[in-house]
Amino acid sequence: MRTLKLNGHVGFDTLPDQLVNRAIGQGFVFNILCVGETGIGKSTLMETLFNRHFDFTKSPHDLSEVNLVSKTYDLAEANVRLKLSITETAGFGDQINKEASAKVVLEYIEEQFEKYLQEELKMYRTMDKFHDTRIHVCLYFIPPTGHGLKALDAVTMKKLDSRVNIIPVIAKSDTITKTELQVFKARLLQDIKANDIKIYQFPENDDNSAQANKACNALLPFAIVGSSDEEIRVNGKPTRVRQYPWGTVQVENESHSDFCKLREMLLRVNMEDLRERTHTMNYENYRKMRLTQMGFRDDENFSLKETYERRRELQKKELQQIEEDMRLMFITRVKEKEQALKQAEKELQDKYEKLKNKHMASKRSLEERRRILESDIEVFRKRQLTAEQGKAVKGKKK
Ligand code: GDP
Repeated sequence: MRTLKLNGHVGFDTLPDQLVNRAIGQGFVFNILCVGETGIGKSTLMETLFNRHFDFTKSPHDLSEVNLVSKTYDLAEANVRLKLSITETAGFGDQINKEASAKVVLEYIEEQFEKYLQEELKMYRTMDKFHDTRIHVCLYFIPPTGHGLKALDAVTMKKLDSRVNIIPVIAKSDTITKTELQVFKARLLQDIKANDIKIYQFPENDDNSAQANKACNALLPFAIVGSSDEEIRVNGKPTRVRQYPWGTVQVENESHSDFCKLREMLLRVNMEDLRERTHTMNYENYRKMRLTQMGFRDDENFSLKETYERRRELQKKELQQIEEDMRLMFITRVKEKEQALKQAEKELQDKYEKLKNKHMASKRSLEERRRILESDIEVFRKRQLTAEQGKAVKGKKK
């Protein structure tokens, strides 16, 4: 009898391993958006976080509008591949009219959702090959003023909060004192609450990370310090620092800044939660809104055929409206042209009449002058005749 040999243990307890292997094979995507004024330290923080130099170009302060500059890097650690996209705002807050700044950022976030949605709606979709550019986290850089949330920051955060996970950070926190920082953090939280801005909260429902997440939630907004170039050895270990004439700020020293906490929360503990929340909440809300706009309904009576018919009807109406508008525009244009032609014709006629009258008047005056001239000639001839006759009579007498 043939006996089959098992190659290994059989059971569904290997499912997690299968998932891990598949995920490692596919690689991961993580997209960060840095929002903040020019020179606030966005590029430096990114380089400090990932401990490498990125080829960011410094943006000037005189841009006429906000631009979003995005760069993608393929990183690898052990056998895990990460496609990291970093998007930064260039020229944010540099314009006199600051209203447009927030709009540009929101539009960029929605554009990435739209690209994903369009791919999802395709008949033949290739989601595994599609480069998902949806923003997973927005690091919002607050200037270390010590006063409170600026109007521009409050407005922008409020605009973005339903579309992206916002983690507020106090930039260049080495420029304010420890006591000022505590007061500043409390003020910022007050302003965030007063403006009803929803910032990302690290999840506290997972037993493994609940405690760390809870502690970090209490630390928000993180006070961070970045340094991409300076490194010294502290206790024999290379340490990133910012050196000043009066001392040294160690970026990774937890009593100097919350940088380590941010790095831990962002990259080690909650990256997957940020990705998941983006897909299941932020993108889902956008998708719902767009599908509703497209005419889809989410109730029991929903029928694809009905929706299709409704959309067709709607499009037909829209086309008819466009046709009607174009017809009216055409008629108006023709009328305007006719009016202009009539006016031009009238002007020409007037000009012609004027010229004709002028010509007649000059003809009349010429006629008059000719008549006078002819009568003068007649008088002259008569005189000449009389003179000649007088001369002849005198000659005979002699
Ligand atoms: P970006 O325009 O927002 O990308 O700003 P950069 O990262 O180019 O930084 C602008 C300047 O701020 C550089 O001279 C940095 O060295 C400096 N800088 C960056 N991070 C910090 C920080 O945490 N503290 C201080 N004091 N300066 C910083």
